[in-house]
Amino acid sequence: MKYFSLNKRKHTSNFEDAVVRGLAPDKGLYFPERIARLPDSFFANLDKMDKYEIAFQAIKEYVGEEIPTSELQKIIEETLDFDFPITPVENNVASLELFHGPTLAFKDVGARFMAGSLGYFIKKGNLGKITVLVATSGDTGGAVANGFLGVEGIDVMILYPKGKVSEIQEKQLTTLGKNITAIEVNGFFDDCQAMVKKAFLDEEITGQRKLTSANSINLARWLPQMFYYFLAYQQLMEKEQELVFSVPSGNFGNICAGMLAREMGLPIDHFVAANNANDTVVDYMKTREYKSKPSVPTISNAMDVGDPSNFIRVLELFNREYTSLEKALSAYTYDDRTTRKAIEKVYSESGYIMDPHGAVGYLGLKEYLEKEKNAFGVFLETAHPVKFLDTVEEVIGDKVEIPPAIQSLFNKKKKSLQIDNYEDLKGFLLS
Ligand SMILES: *Cc1c(COP(=O)(O)O)cnc(C)c1O
Repeated sequence: MKYFSLNKRKHTSNFEDAVVRGLAPDKGLYFPERIARLPDSFFANLDKMDKYEIAFQAIKEYVGEEIPTSELQKIIEETLDFDFPITPVENNVASLELFHGPTLAFKDVGARFMAGSLGYFIKKGNLGKITVLVATSGDTGGAVANGFLGVEGIDVMILYPKGKVSEIQEKQLTTLGKNITAIEVNGFFDDCQAMVKKAFLDEEITGQRKLTSANSINLARWLPQMFYYFLAYQQLMEKEQELVFSVPSGNFGNICAGMLAREMGLPIDHFVAANNANDTVVDYMKTREYKSKPSVPTISNAMDVGDPSNFIRVLELFNREYTSLEKALSAYTYDDRTTRKAIEKVYSESGYIMDPHGAVGYLGLKEYLEKEKNAFGVFLETAHPVKFLDTVEEVIGDKVEIPPAIQSLFNKKKKSLQIDNYEDLKGFLLS
């Protein structure tokens, strides 16, 4: 498969090059030259396939010959070695739980697949050693650190803002050791991101180290996110109702992977982009004009994005035809007060505990189901509620049970490198 850049559209690349680069040289996002539609036989046999086979069939055309079958299968097995259960919450409403992986968020899927792919390309031999440099406001860092832990040939440096990530998130970043270095920045997330950007442009650094990013625009993080839409459909294929997926969205990578699956033939009727107060896409769907906004902080902070990078891929999937996009996508926005109330209501009525991101997804689904009363809806629970313990326990007035893997984190010792400014980072990268 070839990929072209959504910026000037001239640059094309193969899978390996696109994964190693992240962004195209013209700063555009990579997009596949064609959508790999799945044959009827795939859907006819779907009920008999295991999750690894389904994922392999879904992604094989996008990877092509660049990773041999047995290696790709191994990467998929490592990526998907946890469960993706669908839990009924109300009549015609269910939660697709994407938080059973090592860092309790759906980002584990993309991070592991990317680590596996990059690890393979390095092992094959012509890339040399690579440094993955990322800034995180919380969830990305943990997933990337975990995914890349112990991968030969890759050093990972994660910048996070001191005192601004939750205790669990910090433990997930700082207790791994090996090839993972946590860099604690005396500043805000924006400072971390600015330092990372500067480092990528700094020739003294890039002359000495091959840098790559592991953020959500990378193809190897975006594409594998389609896996769980197929796995969910497999559990729902008996239903004769219209099928809707509501995705709590920030940078729009997750929902865009689901919409790609739909274009490949997966019979999902409609998507809901559920947003917190960061409503750039909600406005776009109303006005057909895309205007980025500064991000505003919310309790669902992994979705605090005012200029969602992957939305351009959504537009491309629909050839920029608004009428076909509108048939497939609705977008809604909710403030924190409404989100808190939803967590409380669902907990008191059904005992199900939603995290603030999943709760936004739930709200979006309910709003759509008011119009389409006979549809069956799934909202994506993108993180375990324990990751947002303070908010969730305060709202439900109850304790959230802490999973054993997280319990043990509390006994591990934090190790981080403290820095104040770019010169500190540069000094470290050059040492
Ligand atoms: C990253 C994240 C999101 C947003 O996903 P996008 O692909 O950026 O739209 C939603 N929920 C949680 C918990 C996340 O970590």
